[in-house]
Amino acid sequence: MKALLKKEPGKGFTLENVEEPVIKNSDDVKIKILRTSICGTDVHIYEWNKWAEERIKTPQIGGHEFVGEVIEIGDNVKGLVPGDIVASETHIPCKVCYQCKTGNMHVCKDMQILGVDRDGVFAEYAVVPEIVLWKLDESIPLKYASVMEPLGNAIHTATATDLRAKHVLITGAGPIGAMAIQVAKASGAATIIVSEVSEYRINMAKEVGADLVINPSKENLYEKVMEFTGNHGADVLLEMSGNVTALNDGIKSVRNAGFVSILGVYNEEKIPFVMNTAVFKNLTIQAITGRKMFETWHIATQWLKYNRINIDKIVTHEIKMEDFEKGFELMMSGKSGKIVMKVSE
Ligand code: NAD
Ligand code: ZN
Repeated sequence: MKALLKKEPGKGFTLENVEEPVIKNSDDVKIKILRTSICGTDVHIYEWNKWAEERIKTPQIGGHEFVGEVIEIGDNVKGLVPGDIVASETHIPCKVCYQCKTGNMHVCKDMQILGVDRDGVFAEYAVVPEIVLWKLDESIPLKYASVMEPLGNAIHTATATDLRAKHVLITGAGPIGAMAIQVAKASGAATIIVSEVSEYRINMAKEVGADLVINPSKENLYEKVMEFTGNHGADVLLEMSGNVTALNDGIKSVRNAGFVSILGVYNEEKIPFVMNTAVFKNLTIQAITGRKMFETWHIATQWLKYNRINIDKIVTHEIKMEDFEKGFELMMSGKSGKIVMKVSE
């Protein structure tokens, strides 16, 4: 089968002919990949940054976001049959650790990530355990189904608190921040304020419904937020940039006893943080990883199915998997939202 392989340490992926994966365990499911999308993590692996160098073992197939069709099931698979259309959680849990047993599978102690710790889904076929698969309503277009995993990040971050009638500040309108705009709308926010430095993404944020977009490289974020909210401040901050200045200026813009939900991942393990501001404001700070299994997936499904959210302007490109290099270049240029690659019809 065709697959995008990281053959050896170094930059890029190559399109290779590799052996098709086979069902090894009784709970395995074999999937024909229909669409797969490129995530920032894939870009780090493509670029071969320090994190990738330390984490990725080669040769390995990349990619983790996908939608596919079930074509074969192991003997113990109970909830799926060939022909089902599935999206997938990308964090494979062990099912037996404390977190897995107590409703926090998404932070399993022994979690394996598709395309990071084992072969991924930039391929014609993949084999994954049933536990991660999410059967889809066929009314959901494939290009949206492929990006339900990052949409789930946005939902997980934004549903960590009640957004009804709140002024919500989102720092960073990359694909996930832009999705969070739609999620905040569906959650009943009063207003949605976005902070973003890239012109392309400023436009995307406006198109998907931000009430105010501030460019902090040109304007003072705190002053603009205070002005817009009548000196109230943001009730909630959703940090989705992974930028330290955005995080700290965002916290400064939140009202006393406000809520901060942080999805962003920072380049350094130790970052300067306005801790005393957070303390004296009595903020509640929630760090977020992954998606709740499978509460977030249920919300994503219902909102897409019943058109409560619209992510059409966030999935900006659809290309063939063979044209992956163009896709990665686009991602690295920052002039895109999500890029979905077609693998099969
Ligand atoms: P992205 O890098 O595409 O988007 C980040 C956006 O922030 C960009 O558009 C960038 O222009 C903007 N930005 C940079 N500096 C800024 C500043 N000073 N002020 C305002 N905006 C600024 O990333 P994404 O794919 O949308 O993901 C969002 C963040 O969430 C990233 O940090 C990513 O690493 C992280 N992430 C975390 C998890 C998790 O499980 N915790 C999962 C997925 C992604
Ligand atoms: Zn576990």
